[in-house]
Amino acid sequence: KEEYIRKPEWLKIKLNTNENYTGLKKLMRERNLHTVCEEAKCPNIHECWAVRRTATFMILGAVCTRACRFCAVKTGLPNELDLQEPERVAESVRLMNLKHAVITAVARDDLKDGGAAVFAETVRAVRRENPFTTIEVLPSDMGGVYDNLKMLMDARPDILNHNIETVRSLTPRVRARATYDRSLQFLKRAKEMQPDIPTKSSLMIGLGETKEEIIETMDDLRANDVDIMTIGQYLQPSKKHLKVQKYYHPDEFAELREIAMSKGFSHVEAGPLVRSSYHADEQVNEAAKA
Ligand code: SF4
Ligand code: SF4
Repeated sequence: KEEYIRKPEWLKIKLNTNENYTGLKKLMRERNLHTVCEEAKCPNIHECWAVRRTATFMILGAVCTRACRFCAVKTGLPNELDLQEPERVAESVRLMNLKHAVITAVARDDLKDGGAAVFAETVRAVRRENPFTTIEVLPSDMGGVYDNLKMLMDARPDILNHNIETVRSLTPRVRARATYDRSLQFLKRAKEMQPDIPTKSSLMIGLGETKEEIIETMDDLRANDVDIMTIGQYLQPSKKHLKVQKYYHPDEFAELREIAMSKGFSHVEAGPLVRSSYHADEQVNEAAKA
């Protein structure tokens, strides 16, 4: 029998499904849209949707062409490209009255442009219909093709977020196809293309990395001009996914946050339940001030 480490108290959360939640869920189903908030059963959903008015949409279908070993998104043959999706996302942002919308996408390695054209159109559609909503994009490396990244940056999102996910040594085991250096390059090129758009990246910990490696990742991100960093606890989505090697204590997250801040990031979120899009609305304001 396999051995699992016990989940600590601070990660035990109760999902409370109130009216607000069911109403929003219905809205998503009616419009055939997906959010990471629901797909990943994110524990922060009430705080984000109802209180902070922020949500993370997952576009370009619900099936990914990659199979990263930490990720719960379905993998396989992708859905046909849906050209009406940008408008439906824009309308949902309006109906949800979102202050900040995060838009992510599955990796579409089957498409020449990696889905960049639909992604960029989604940013423009959300902007047209919601001029006061800030927009954060969270793409994959879109095949590492910089013309794809350029198409997205030209749509002028408020934040470009691309996750490094894990430390250098663990990347080949944890991520599918993506490489550590390609992600760093991707972040750097985004900054070069639109220097006034803040860049952001997330690290999951608990996969077997050392503290030195976490600090090295902070340095690598700063060396590539990344402005915002988030650090959260990896949680195993199913028995088929990688096992958790360590549950970090909230005090360790607080210490990591201090270290990251000392490296010169304009904003750092670190905590057991911190996700890439957690408190994302605050970061856009702080980055604008920086
Ligand atoms: Fe959605 Fe991100 Fe908030 Fe979770 S933290 S509910 S994924 S916006
Ligand atoms: Fe999940 Fe993104 Fe990896 Fe696809 S590319 S499996 S959506 S983490």
